Amino acid sequence: MKIASIDLFQVALPYSGGTYRLSRGRTYETFTASIVRITADDGTTGWGESTPFGSTYVAAHPAGTRAAIEMLAPALLGMDPRQVDRISSLMDETLLGHNDAKAALDIACWDLFGKSTGLPVSELLGGRTNVPMPLISSIHTGDPEEMRARVADHRARGYLGHSIKIGTHDRDGGPAVDAERIVACLADRRPGEWFLVDANAGLTSETARRLFSLLPDGLDFVLESPCPTWRETLAVRKASPYPLILDELATNDDDLIHAIELDAADGFGLKVTPAGGLTPSRRQRDIARAAGLIMTVQDTVGSDISYAAIVHLGATVPPELLRCVLKTSDMVTLTTAAFEPIESEGGVLPPESPGLGLEIDEEVLGAPVASWS
Ligand SMILES: [Mg+2]
Repeated sequence: MKIASIDLFQVALPYSGGTYRLSRGRTYETFTASIVRITADDGTTGWGESTPFGSTYVAAHPAGTRAAIEMLAPALLGMDPRQVDRISSLMDETLLGHNDAKAALDIACWDLFGKSTGLPVSELLGGRTNVPMPLISSIHTGDPEEMRARVADHRARGYLGHSIKIGTHDRDGGPAVDAERIVACLADRRPGEWFLVDANAGLTSETARRLFSLLPDGLDFVLESPCPTWRETLAVRKASPYPLILDELATNDDDLIHAIELDAADGFGLKVTPAGGLTPSRRQRDIARAAGLIMTVQDTVGSDISYAAIVHLGATVPPELLRCVLKTSDMVTLTTAAFEPIESEGGVLPPESPGLGLEIDEEVLGAPVASWS
């Protein structure tokens, strides 16, 4: 099997909740997805997606994703898409960094690999555990009681994990408002629920310590991504009575190894696109597993194609280490594909169909913005 052609599509994904509000005053209304179709010499197609969360979340933005794919795609023509590690190495030799662009191409290769064998991607990644994976909500910042209501809405829809966003400027109330948000969102906690308090690197070690002093005892949550630097994160780690998991600070193998070496965290958010696709994510899954780190399997954001990659990868994480997966497609209003994971009360499992199990809606994608053959 050889890669015969590659097409790139870009579509706008409006946020399903209007305006998404993140720490340090960042707001988002629409995300731009870069979607890749790789066609093999036998006519089989594989699909992948990369959707950065605006331009101020991690070091990625949609125009950059497109520009990097324009550099990478010609190098991949003629390669065997089933040799995912060789493809990953070739992309690293062609362009340093720019994992967001590599991710879309890598995911499309895995989709092709699965279709070529008749197996779901989860089987090729090591095999599904068959334990349903809880879904996690993404509760952006707002008034504490309004955030509590959004947690309740997700609870009613079967979500067992809740990611509560914090990180308020002092001029807007600072740690006192963040403390109110945490208390409000945890107030109606049900058995089996799991709470993240995610600052998206929006705290300093000073604001984090003030927040801890304002919280009542006995709150059961995990603190995620408190600060933007290692120095601050390690200071928070020392001062925190709460378990800590990394997100924005740990996106590549080296970050993860560094975190383990420093005992900087109890877990990390395994995000497919910042990692560079399913190939590096698989490696990070195994490094984290060896260190006994808990994982949430997520992505920055994305449509159904991103969600499919998350579901297949998440299904291969041992259940004692997997806390939840993010349904990215629930965060946007545009449907790019039919994707039907097996749903139950405890969560989701990947579909049994070959590859990622997607039926792409090509009309929604429109014409390619670039093509290579
Ligand atoms: Mg996070």
